[in-house]
Amino acid sequence: MTTVATWDGLLVGDELAHLTTEPAREARTAPLPDSLQPALLEALARRGIHELYAHQAAAYAAARGGGNVIVTTGTASGKTLAFNLPVLDALAADRHARALYLYPTKALAQDQARSLGELGVAAVRAAIYDGDTPTERRRQIRGWANLVLTNPDMLHIGVLPRHDLWGDFLHNLRFVVVDEAHVYRGVFGSHVGNVLRRLRRLARIYGAEPQFLLASATIANAAELASALTGEEATVVEDDAAPRAERTIALWNPPLLDAELGLRASALGEASRLLAGLVGRGLRTICFAKSRKAAELIHRFAADRLDAATAARLAPYRAGYTPQQRREIERRLVEGDLLGVTSTDALELGIDIGDLDCAISVGFPGTVASLRQQWGRAGRREHGLAILIASEDALDQYFMREPPALLDRHVEAAILDHANPRVLDGHVAAAAFEAPIDEGDAATLGPEALERAPHVPELRHTARGWVWAGKDSPAARVPLRSTSPDSFLVVDAATGDILGLAERERVYSTVHEGAVYLHLGRQYLVRELDLTARRALVEPFEGDWYTQAKKETETSIEEPLRVERRLGLELSFGRVSVTEQVVAYQKKAVADGSTLATVPLDLPPTTFDTEAVWFVPRPHQLEDLEAMPLLLSSLHAAEHSLIALLPLWAMCDRWDIGGLSTNLHLDTGAPTVFVYDGHAGGVGIAARGFDQFEGWVADTVTLLEGCPCERGCPSCVQSPKCGNLNEYLDKAGALTLLTRMSNSG
Ligand SMILES: [Zn+2]
Ligand SMILES: [Zn+2]
Repeated sequence: MTTVATWDGLLVGDELAHLTTEPAREARTAPLPDSLQPALLEALARRGIHELYAHQAAAYAAARGGGNVIVTTGTASGKTLAFNLPVLDALAADRHARALYLYPTKALAQDQARSLGELGVAAVRAAIYDGDTPTERRRQIRGWANLVLTNPDMLHIGVLPRHDLWGDFLHNLRFVVVDEAHVYRGVFGSHVGNVLRRLRRLARIYGAEPQFLLASATIANAAELASALTGEEATVVEDDAAPRAERTIALWNPPLLDAELGLRASALGEASRLLAGLVGRGLRTICFAKSRKAAELIHRFAADRLDAATAARLAPYRAGYTPQQRREIERRLVEGDLLGVTSTDALELGIDIGDLDCAISVGFPGTVASLRQQWGRAGRREHGLAILIASEDALDQYFMREPPALLDRHVEAAILDHANPRVLDGHVAAAAFEAPIDEGDAATLGPEALERAPHVPELRHTARGWVWAGKDSPAARVPLRSTSPDSFLVVDAATGDILGLAERERVYSTVHEGAVYLHLGRQYLVRELDLTARRALVEPFEGDWYTQAKKETETSIEEPLRVERRLGLELSFGRVSVTEQVVAYQKKAVADGSTLATVPLDLPPTTFDTEAVWFVPRPHQLEDLEAMPLLLSSLHAAEHSLIALLPLWAMCDRWDIGGLSTNLHLDTGAPTVFVYDGHAGGVGIAARGFDQFEGWVADTVTLLEGCPCERGCPSCVQSPKCGNLNEYLDKAGALTLLTRMSNSG
């Protein structure tokens, strides 16, 4: 114990679900390698860096050996220096060498550019090249910079299709840095996996074989992620040698107000109470909420609990602040002028606002990696406090009862599927536009690209290979965050700003007229869904209700790809076709989820192909559950609770997953539960469920056993996205079925 924790007395009561302290850890260091260029050594010395952490030295050595590397050490462990060392060293040694740094957001690229500038290695000429770069600057950057920072979208649309302008850069490309690599998962990751393969191919055409250096949050499958993203093997550096201060971790569960209904006190109220308590003790605290509205409420409630002088030392921290404004807040925090900051988690990605005493996460942010990143703000140098306040969501409540699942297990895997034809085809077209595709390109683009080429419209086979026969650049038609090229735009009616994309398959359920749409934590109301122009016009919305679509879903099995005897039944993974028809929506109160109105909708059905995992329980597993509607209710409740826990295994959102349960399915002729990938073509989520079925079902049994409600609640079998509006759910029946399955294993 180095410091006496001053939060003593605050973390008491039934709300405290778990309290533990992770011990401090000494750094393990290694000397700076002798081989480093003098200019780099001088720059490091100026920054007071005279030795490395062991993992930084290991990453440098692996990169010097010529291979690809992925570094997956913890938050604030110096991952940046781990990949900067080999790159800056190469740039200092060879004035022709070039490096490309890829960041998922412009803000992160700016932060990295700033810290590269501060390091001040004379030979390094770094520049940002993104959508904001003025046209007249672009040519200059291409010719002058030897380290270009950009994002996947710019690489995809702005750089690769215009590779003739980048010939010198590509010819000399030595390193590609992919920071925050865990962000590239799901649909986005599947696209980025293809963008990086296109980059490798063009580099090869210009005579270069760049090395890939990736950095990621801690995940279960670093090696797999690296090869899925780049198409090549990588050395994993994961043995974190950075020092760590002691950190106390508290899991906080708002009190149960109605045990029967599973109703709990508001997480926002608890957050404001803890925030006020910590700030009142003089502790610098950041509080992360999921929406701007929630962050504002926490800020206000906390201020109400404090005297005016202390309340004045609280501030909200919003996305969209300029670097100057961010540094101003950071300065006020460092100087102790500010004590408490509330923020949406839109800012979570690596942006550094300094070393604080406490970090509060209000609601599980969706991945353990994000949670660790939020918690990483607290106690870097001295004993810190990190708190998770649970929402009513099933996964949050599961963690409150099973802390080791959150704190000790590493099951979360970043998955993607670059070969999904819905994703791949657009990149095959883009690659053909960039240069004719022949057999030799299988080595970089992957054999799947060659297989898809004959199926891609506007490609023509010639003596030079597959060439693009269309007019414009096909890359511009391929959005990186959707699996359908015919996505709808979500447009702010007042400003004309494009807020986001809605995949065609989801348009009717997410942006129908009257839907409440969330973007970066802000609420919008959909005014108009224009099917011809393929856009939804929305406007800012202050109401206190949200909407839930009621839809009818059917699935048909197109092709089982893997069928295995698992947990006493036949478990299948394969391709299915899903047809959904949105028939109505409900307005529900934010405060208590009560239904305010049901509004019918007249919308056409949509059909898409995707991947699913499905199972047909054996008769003995359904014994005494056969009567209707108990049978359907048991299967339906099992489906919901399985979907709630799949994100623990596959890094995804429950909104990325769909499900269907039926007492009689036409294709199987029996009661069947389907869990399908919500993105056309599938991005690997259902496949992960198939692979991890036993652990996934066991977790779900634990969830249902532990939930204190009597007949099912939002923390176990109810789903915020159920197309049947949570009708026909039987918690006991689901538990019986899943327990029998688990016991068959
Ligand atoms: Zn429950
Ligand atoms: Zn449902």
